[in-house]
Amino acid sequence: MVITFPHMGMMYIPVKALFDELGVDIIVPAKINKQTLETGQRHCPEMACLPLKILMGNYIESIKRGADTIVLSGSCGPCRFGYYGVVQGEILKDLGYNIDIIILDPPSEGTGEFLRRLKKVTGNSSIYRSLKAVKKAFRVSNELEGLLQLVLRQRPRATNKVSIDQIMNRFENRIAASKGADEILACIYDTRARLERVETDRNIKPLKIGLVGEIYTLIEPYVNLEAEKRLGNMGAEVHREMTVDSWVKYHLAPDIKHRRRHNRILKKAEDYLHLCIGGHAWETVAHSLNYAREGMDGIIQILPFGCMPEIVAESILPTLAKDEDIPLMTLVVDELTGEAGYQTRLEAFVDLLELRRSSVSDESGKTLSWY
Ligand code: SF4
Repeated sequence: MVITFPHMGMMYIPVKALFDELGVDIIVPAKINKQTLETGQRHCPEMACLPLKILMGNYIESIKRGADTIVLSGSCGPCRFGYYGVVQGEILKDLGYNIDIIILDPPSEGTGEFLRRLKKVTGNSSIYRSLKAVKKAFRVSNELEGLLQLVLRQRPRATNKVSIDQIMNRFENRIAASKGADEILACIYDTRARLERVETDRNIKPLKIGLVGEIYTLIEPYVNLEAEKRLGNMGAEVHREMTVDSWVKYHLAPDIKHRRRHNRILKKAEDYLHLCIGGHAWETVAHSLNYAREGMDGIIQILPFGCMPEIVAESILPTLAKDEDIPLMTLVVDELTGEAGYQTRLEAFVDLLELRRSSVSDESGKTLSWY
């Protein structure tokens, strides 16, 4: 069995740690590029979600490199994601690929079935080895998240922003050559130290922007056209609650503190939306409210064209933004999104936030209203 899995930002790093620890052969999916999207587009229905098309291209690339099993997480929410695994399996079968697809739904949807499928993945590993591997992978996920948050903090303050890219490129090259969780953790710690040494301008007070939206679009830089990097290079500090690590902590790891905080944030948004309508629309609304109350300067929602749950969230957000008096911009991405127009919209939004911050305050010291 040679396993592959979806590529989503740097999610491959904890997944690689897990499989390395289990001693399972894997094909680490290649980074998403234009070719990946074109391959996916060729074999998927035109109106399928953008993430589905990209992942299909990604799987085909991995299959050609020798993978015979795809492991992916499931979703039980009422949107198309719930059918991803089945649809992708059918498309691959029609294309003549003899591939096994293992869908790991969260244990909350049935612990017995989750464990049975997990057993298929872990193969002959003992329970002790499997648990130890999972624990190490959780740790890698947590430390990696800390590293990515540090990138978001350092980028707007760095005097030479290219140095951040150089450090992170070196990090990914080292990860590709490492084996096992301990080597991966050593890379993370070393990279963290390098990032901390980057020269920064202490006088900079970056704008704070909260990113919300569909999970794949937010986490995969190819799909969001590197929104975080662009904003950071413009001098804005990006905040994003939707991360692989938070998903892991909520759905897989028994992190009670994280779950409580997450549920508290969701509950606060119940005047706007109070149930899961699929995807992460509920989180989009709740995180937006949370960002507004945490004093962010603005919010950007990013969604793939035709994403049903995010379209519902998009219709709610203007009311929320008006109530909280916070600037909001929605960006819809698809196969045809042009880089120049995207960059212009981000720049214009950042300029407006700067203008607002520097505008004359009223007598109470508050910034003038956006609306
Ligand atoms: S969340 Fe949106 S993009 Fe993702 S599967 Fe559902 S409809 Fe498609």
